[in-house]
Amino acid sequence: MKKILIIEDDPDIRFITAICLRKQKFEVLEAENGQEGVKKAQQFLPDLIICDIAMPGMDGYTVLVRLQQEPVTTSIPFIFLTSFAARENFRHGMSLGADDFLEKPVSCQELLAAVEARLNRHESLTSGYTLLIEQTKRQVDYLKDHDSVTGLPNQNYLLKELDNWLVDPSCQAFTLFHFGIDCHLVQQTLGWEQGDLFLEAIIQRLNHYLKGYNYLLARLETERFVLILLGVNELEVVTRQGQALLQELGPPLTLNGQEIFVRANLGLSRYPQDGRDRNELLRKAEFALGQATKISNLTCYPYNQEPTSAGLDALTLQVALSHALERGELMVYYQPQLETQTGQLAGAEALLRWYNPVLGWVSPAQFIPLAEETGFIEPISRWVLQKVCRQNQIWQTKYGKPLRIAVNLPAEQFRQLDLIPFIEQTLQARQLTPDCLTLELTESMLVQDVAFSLATMQLLKKKGIKLSLDDFGTGYSSLSYLKRFPFDELKIDQSFIREVTITSRNRAIVASIIQLAHNLELKVVAEGVETQEQLTLLKQLECEEVQGYLIGRPASAAEIEAKFLVKLISASNSISQN
Ligand code: C2E
Ligand code: MG
Ligand code: MG
Repeated sequence: MKKILIIEDDPDIRFITAICLRKQKFEVLEAENGQEGVKKAQQFLPDLIICDIAMPGMDGYTVLVRLQQEPVTTSIPFIFLTSFAARENFRHGMSLGADDFLEKPVSCQELLAAVEARLNRHESLTSGYTLLIEQTKRQVDYLKDHDSVTGLPNQNYLLKELDNWLVDPSCQAFTLFHFGIDCHLVQQTLGWEQGDLFLEAIIQRLNHYLKGYNYLLARLETERFVLILLGVNELEVVTRQGQALLQELGPPLTLNGQEIFVRANLGLSRYPQDGRDRNELLRKAEFALGQATKISNLTCYPYNQEPTSAGLDALTLQVALSHALERGELMVYYQPQLETQTGQLAGAEALLRWYNPVLGWVSPAQFIPLAEETGFIEPISRWVLQKVCRQNQIWQTKYGKPLRIAVNLPAEQFRQLDLIPFIEQTLQARQLTPDCLTLELTESMLVQDVAFSLATMQLLKKKGIKLSLDDFGTGYSSLSYLKRFPFDELKIDQSFIREVTITSRNRAIVASIIQLAHNLELKVVAEGVETQEQLTLLKQLECEEVQGYLIGRPASAAEIEAKFLVKLISASNSISQN
C-alpha cells in the first residue's frame, strides 16, 4: 500500500483530503505544519507528499527545500496544494523541485488523478535507476574479481578459487605456474596503450596454447600471472609443458611496426608435493620463478628446494644446461699438443666451454658429468664434433692441411648405433679425411660391454679414425684391456705428470707406462705438462707428445690460430730447444 503524507494546517481540508485518499486504498499520514511535515517525511519516507504553501511557521516552500537537501527524501514526489495559484508561485514552486501544483478548491477526482500520475512517473523513473544500480553493482562485482586490462580473473578471484579447491578433500592434483612477463620496457618505450596491446597479444598466445586444457589463468599484478593446470603434476611432464608454453610466447611480436622481444619466465610448484596450502604453493612457485630469471630468458624452473648454501644446486645447473646449446652458450676451445722431439704442433684437443650470462663460466668438471647423467651430452657431443670439423675445414682451407684434433667421446655417444655413419657424414660434409680426427675414450666406458666396444673400435679404426685412451692411470688400467683394444695412443693422466719430477716413484711409474705403451705400439701423450723440467724429462723418456699449460691453455679457435697456426714454426721451436 502506497503511503501519502499530507502537510496542511487547515484541519478540514486535511481531513477531506485524507478521506479521499484512503478511499483509494492509500495509507495516509498527516502533519499540521511544516516542521511536523519534514519530521514525518524523514521518519516514514512516504511515496508522495501533498503540501500546502501558506502555513504558520515553516511554509510549504521551506518544507520542499528541506526535503530536497536530504538524500533519502529528495526524490519523493511532491505536490503543492494551494489557493495562491498565481503564476509566480507556480514557477517558484516548480523551480524548487515540486512535481505538480494543484489549485484549491480541488475535487477528489482531480487530486487522485494528479497523485496517480506522479506515482506512475516516479515508478518508471525509479525502475530505470534500479536497473542502472544493478548494472553498476554487477560491474563492481566483476571488477572485484577481474583485471580491468586483460579481463582475466585477478588475485582476489584466484585466492578464493584456490581456497575452495584446497578445502575439498578430493581436490585433484594440479600445477601452479607463476609467470613473470616483462612489459615494463614496452610501456616505457612505446607507452601504456601499446603495453596493454602487448599484454593482450601475450594472453592470446597463452590461451591459444592452453586450448583443450583444464586451466585457470589469472593476473596477479602488472607483470605477474598465475596459471593453474588441473590434473597434472608429474615433474617431468609439467616442466616440459612450461617450457613448451614459453616457446609459444617466445617469438618476437610486432607492435606499431616495431619488433618486440618477449621476456618471460616461469616458476612452478605442484600440489600436493610442494604444499597443501595456497600461500605455500604461491610462494614456492614465485621462488622458482626467481631461480628461472637468474638462469636466462624463457626458462621454466620447477620448485625444488631453496638452496641452503650460496652454491648452485644441481637443478639450477640442469635447467640452465638444457638451454645452453640452443642459446649458443657453448663453445669449443682447443688445447695444443706438441711433438716433444721436433717441437712441432702435433694437434689439439677440443675442450668444451660453457658461459651462461647469469652463472658465468661453468667448469666442465661440473657440467659434463651432469650432461652425462641427464642425457644432454648426446646432442652436445654431436654439436662438438660438427663444430670441430667445421673449424678444421676453415684451417685446412687457410693453411693447406687440417689439424689433428682430438675429441672426447662420452660413453653415451659411444653406444649410439649411428656413431660411425654420423662421424663419416660429418667429416665428408667438411671434406676432411678421417686421419685428422682422434677420439678420446676412457676405460670405464669400454668395460661396460666389452664385445660391443671392441667391435665399434675395430670399425672406427678401419675407417681410419685414431683412438686414444684418455686419463690412463686413473681407471682400471688393465693391461689385458690395453692389449685387446685397438688404441693408437695413450694419454697419461695429469695426476702422474704433476709429480713426475718430484718423486722417483712417480718418475718410475711414468717411465714404465711409456715403456709399456711403446711395447704395445702405442704413441704416448702426457697431459698436464706445466713446467720445463717436466717437458725435459718426458722428452728423455721418449714420450711422443705433450699437452699442458706450459705449451698453452685451452683457448678459442682464433687464439689458437694466432698463437700456433700463424706463428707455428717460431713458437714451437723455442720450446723444443730447451
Ligand atoms: P680431459 O679430456 O682429461 O681434458 C684435459 C683436462 O685437463 C682439461 O680440463 C684441460 O683444461 C686440463 N688441463 C690441460 N692442461 C693442463 C695443465 O697443464 N694443468 C692442469 N691443471 N690442467 C690442465 P677441462 O677442460 O676442465 O675438462 C675436464 C674434462 O671434461 C676433460 O678431461 C673431459 O673429460 C671433459 N670434457 C671436456 N670437454 C669435453 C667434451 O667436449 N666432451 C666430453 N665428452 N667431455 C669433455
Ligand atoms: Mg681428453
Ligand atoms: Mg685427460
